Amino acid sequence: MGKIAINIATGSLQQAETIVGIDLGTTNSLIAIVREDTRQPIALREIDGLTLVPSIVHFDRNSSAMVGNEAKELLIDEPERTIYSVKRLMGKSYKDVGHDSSFFAYNIIDDDTDSLVKIQVGDKFYSPIELSSYILKELKHRAEHILKTPVNKAVITVPAYFNDAQRQATRDAGRLAGLDVLRIVNEPTAASLAYGLGVKPEEEKTIAVYDLGGGTFDISVLKITNGIFEVLSTNGDTYLGGDDMDKAVVKHWVAELGISNAEFDGNKSLAQALRLTAEEAKKHLSSNDSFEGEIDGRKVRITKAKFNELVQPLVDRTLTACKNALRDAKLETKDIDAVVMVGGSTRVPLVKESVRDFFGKEVFDQLNPDEVVALGAAVQADILAGKNTDMLLLDVTPLSLGIETMGGLMDVLIPRNSKIPTKAGRQYTTHKDGQSGMRISVYQGERDLVQDNRKLAEFNLTGIPAMPAGLPKVEVTFLIDADGILKVSATELRSGVAQTIDVKPQYGLTDEEVERMLMDSLTHAKSDMQTRALVEASTEAEQMLETTMKFINKHRELLSGEEMEATELQMKRLKAAIAAKDKDLVQKETELLNDISRPFAERVMDAALKDAMKGKKIV
Ligand code: ADP
Ligand code: MG
Repeated sequence: MGKIAINIATGSLQQAETIVGIDLGTTNSLIAIVREDTRQPIALREIDGLTLVPSIVHFDRNSSAMVGNEAKELLIDEPERTIYSVKRLMGKSYKDVGHDSSFFAYNIIDDDTDSLVKIQVGDKFYSPIELSSYILKELKHRAEHILKTPVNKAVITVPAYFNDAQRQATRDAGRLAGLDVLRIVNEPTAASLAYGLGVKPEEEKTIAVYDLGGGTFDISVLKITNGIFEVLSTNGDTYLGGDDMDKAVVKHWVAELGISNAEFDGNKSLAQALRLTAEEAKKHLSSNDSFEGEIDGRKVRITKAKFNELVQPLVDRTLTACKNALRDAKLETKDIDAVVMVGGSTRVPLVKESVRDFFGKEVFDQLNPDEVVALGAAVQADILAGKNTDMLLLDVTPLSLGIETMGGLMDVLIPRNSKIPTKAGRQYTTHKDGQSGMRISVYQGERDLVQDNRKLAEFNLTGIPAMPAGLPKVEVTFLIDADGILKVSATELRSGVAQTIDVKPQYGLTDEEVERMLMDSLTHAKSDMQTRALVEASTEAEQMLETTMKFINKHRELLSGEEMEATELQMKRLKAAIAAKDKDLVQKETELLNDISRPFAERVMDAALKDAMKGKKIV
């Protein structure tokens, strides 16, 4: 594959590098490329015809790693040495995994709740990044074998809800595997590319991409105009997928067979056997009406009707997310021109029917739902290789980004669902005379108070020349690049003092949390408004107090003893109101202080005027 070029220096033939597209899935991973001859994306296929590589890593007693189907076969016999669903752990701390840790049959280390999780296998410890790199190395190796050319560059996909930390972790895994990761692309975006929907000039389409995989659910609403893809909104849940259907079936059988909690928890092999048989049953039921099997000599069975009943709540949750995505895009189902089905779990007939009924139209399911994301990644790789200039991609930020201002308020610079790459800037100033430094704290989230949002980074702009409060002009700019990585810079415009940081994503925010933060912002909208009003009133009051203090210190001689007393008393009252966190009272007392001190200011002006007049003679 690739173009042939001649190296002018050596005269030798060189092959232009192939850039591959990789779907690094929770359950399955695969590689695709765009064929030079047909210009069509294809998934790379082993001689045995398989394209999917189970995202499973097994370590033998010498700690050498094995990836894919061979590893999957050891899930039951050696659960402690066989790592699956590692994508769920990417960029997460033990605290994040918390109650879900029982889902994993292997050992997740919990020594420090806030640091990144490690997985223990034998006497060795592995990070999710390392484990993912084993999967990527295997894919790279296979691709090189099939294409008979070195593969060093890739486009890797991630769920739309992956936060900065998780995207960065994915990038790191690629680098560890010896891959130059040219772009991280959202899976639903890639899927739409694979279908090549709307790439014809002057075609305008609004598309919903419904992706139900093994571990994650994503719904994206895309708008395609003149070959330009724009993501209008995204929604989803990283803890919702085919695995959960399996779990529901396992739960059903555990109850039916009368397996106690103790037996289930204590016997990891049994738990794994139940899980694998449940998955087998689910797949079987996608084209049959009932399933029968055996686990440890015990008979298990399930009908399609029972299965549908078990998974209906999961399907309903996906539809709720669809509703939210439409709401964010300010669209109704009738505005959607096409619905694209992605992910192995969309093979479940109930899923397909429910999605069709929800959107009121037939769905796109012609392409293999397991491969469609990798195919789209290959198309993106092709665009990056400069071979396809017809398309351009725009993505959106899942949460708002902003900085902390006086009183701990969140000042949003880039609202959620903004298209990226994007840039935004705003001017701020100091609140103290001679202030030489300014702390820039960057937050992500929808709440009015920064304490309720997530801190991404903090840095100090230092060396601001001494100026009275309010005079420095500090311009803060946010720049999000095409990979969703944020760069923040602050410049004091009068002096040119500047500071820039790349926001090193902090590990630890789960996609569940992203959703929770969105939900919280809705639930708390009213109390947030009240809090914001209080903070604003208090900030104004503090400023009033400071100005009055300044005045008293400077012009004490202009005030009578009585006036001094009245002023000090009113200042005390105002301070008490601030302490009592009573917004109305703060406003009232501020007014009163203002009433008392306004004449003083006039007096200063008069005095200044008199001074000025003294020197002048009016004839
Ligand atoms: P991921 O994107 O999470 O890696 P995939 O898109 O490969 O996942 O989907 C994997 C999921 O699809 C698994 O839960 C698997 O059980 C499920 N799946 C695969 N084939 C079928 C089928 N025929 N019927 C129902 N579910 C299926
Ligand atoms: Mg997937």
